[in-house]
Amino acid sequence: MPGTKHFGRMQYNVARGLREIVAPRQTMTREQWARVLKEFGECCTFCGGEPTRENRGIVPDHLVPVTKFGELVPGNVVPACQTCNDSRGEKDWRPFLRSRYPGDAEAQIALVEAHVQAHGYEAIRLETALSIEEQVAYSELLSEWERFLETARRLRDAAEQRRKREL
Ligand SMILES: [Zn+2]
Repeated sequence: MPGTKHFGRMQYNVARGLREIVAPRQTMTREQWARVLKEFGECCTFCGGEPTRENRGIVPDHLVPVTKFGELVPGNVVPACQTCNDSRGEKDWRPFLRSRYPGDAEAQIALVEAHVQAHGYEAIRLETALSIEEQVAYSELLSEWERFLETARRLRDAAEQRRKREL
């Protein structure tokens, strides 16, 4: 049953949550998403595929990845099948598209670029989103979280080792 193990998920959720301090817009309306989908013909931007059981459907894919403070807004999102979304990960979208798109990759790239431009999306930069003092506080927060996680891992591993010995 999914959703009963939270340790691994915790790192993901906290890391993502902390990024929202810098890049807060992480919601899109149903209508906005529907418009983006339509713009790309309801197909995956990267492989051109329609939603199927195999590719597990079409999802919003961040052009600028979340790890680089990309936001969930129409100008930073294109439709991607779950398979492409997973295999792209944090790779840059242009080379990924070139490696994947069966037709004219350059024309498809131009389409994505026009989409970004039409929405006037510019990636958020830490240096412009936060003041110097806030950047210092932010980086301290990240280090604190790293320390917290490291302690939690040690505790978990020690308890696990002991349980194994007692078996
Ligand atoms: Zn795809």
